[in-house]
Amino acid sequence: MDFEMNDRIKTITGMINEFVRKELIPLEPEFLTHEFTEMMPEIEEKRRMVKQMELWAPNHPKEYGGMGLDLMDHAYVSEALGASPLGHFVFGCHAPDAGNIEILHKYGTPEQKEKYLRPLVEGKIRSCFSMTEVEMPGSNPVMLDTTAVKDGGHYVINGQKWYSTAADGAEFAIVMAITNPEAPPYLRASMIIVPCDTPGFNLVRNIPVMGHSGAGYFSHGEILYQSCRVPVENLLGPEGHGFVIAQDRLGPGRIHHCMRWIGICNRAFDLMCSRASQRIISPDQKTLATKQIIQSWIAESAAEIQAARLMTLHAAWKIEKYGAKEARDDISLIKFVVANTMQHVIDRALQVHGGMGMTDDTILAFFFRHERAARIYDGADEVHKMNVAKRILKGYERGGAKQ
Ligand SMILES: Cc1cc2nc3c(=O)[nH]c(=O)nc-3n(C[C@H](O)[C@H](O)[C@H](O)COP(=O)(O)OP(=O)(O)OC[C@H]3O[C@@H](n4cnc5c(N)ncnc54)[C@H](O)[C@@H]3O)c2cc1C
Repeated sequence: MDFEMNDRIKTITGMINEFVRKELIPLEPEFLTHEFTEMMPEIEEKRRMVKQMELWAPNHPKEYGGMGLDLMDHAYVSEALGASPLGHFVFGCHAPDAGNIEILHKYGTPEQKEKYLRPLVEGKIRSCFSMTEVEMPGSNPVMLDTTAVKDGGHYVINGQKWYSTAADGAEFAIVMAITNPEAPPYLRASMIIVPCDTPGFNLVRNIPVMGHSGAGYFSHGEILYQSCRVPVENLLGPEGHGFVIAQDRLGPGRIHHCMRWIGICNRAFDLMCSRASQRIISPDQKTLATKQIIQSWIAESAAEIQAARLMTLHAAWKIEKYGAKEARDDISLIKFVVANTMQHVIDRALQVHGGMGMTDDTILAFFFRHERAARIYDGADEVHKMNVAKRILKGYERGGAKQ
């Protein structure tokens, strides 16, 4: 296995690094002090520049206007874009649209693809993914309360969801709802496309998260579906296959997230080293960088980032070579290892900045607040650890060992 970038990806990531440095990082002070919706004219201008550079929608299908990069190549792109919170959105490969694009591409009917997939890849509309419920444990997704009952040529949806990221301003939601209550647990739910202007689709609020409710793309919606009626043609994939489709959405998505987090680690590490090298902390002009405890944080961070990065690239390689099912332990391992690495690295970088780290004068406090959720969404740490450990232990129960 060889993790050397090919020449094309070297060129692409080189262009992205330069764009992030020149065009996106300078926007961050405004991003940190304004609602995202207020910045849309500037963001759209940057998106136009990305399209002109022919770097738009790197991981999305070519026939819909993307670059069609494979998982491994997009992993490096995601790392480069992760340096700024604006990166993925400006390049058209942001969650949750990225996951919705993947499943619309794989399961959508020709009509659904024209109506929802094409404008989504083009960045003309946004979407959200509406699965987690207020009253039910997201960690055990078979316990869903939301129902979609067939009534003639329609599904009538009722339920209360929250954490539907980016629902505010979205054109449509992909909703997970129980359609077959008598079926075995993993065949009870379906995915249904619900346009957000459907009567009965009620965005109750943007949930305040870590002190900020956000707006537009940077928000998380609580949605009440009240007798929300959509045509049966809005079913995505076969009825009862919601969990099968959800699994498809999660495998590659975790590689994208983990590499984005490595990008965040790289940025935080860079800020930590720069600050430590410049901050004079004694009259004899010694800097923080001369202190062993800071050197230790820097060395530990460098080692942890490299380990997390190689684990993620290895998992991506394994998915491409053997498929997501074969790589499921590797995917679980990176999900909690990289999320925790990111948290440690951001925390150390913030600590090195002292009081300044707590302000919004650097991007670190935003990363600290915003990225804490990495240990919760797409499977909480504990769930991934438990699943991997169970599979490892099974080998021992049979008298063998881990393969
Ligand atoms: C920022 C953010 C964005 C999100 N975006 C979306 C989105 O776009 N769409 C969407 O549908 N959902 C989204 N979610 C929701 C997310 O998927 C859920 O929060 C997650 O699945 C956990 O479910 P829960 O919150 O109900 O926690 P619970 O299931 O109640 O679990 C609570 C905690 O219990 C522990 N735990 C759970 N199970 C076990 C176990 N078996 N053993 C030991 N400990 C356990 C874990 O520590 C877990 O954090 C988002 C969440 C966040 C924070």
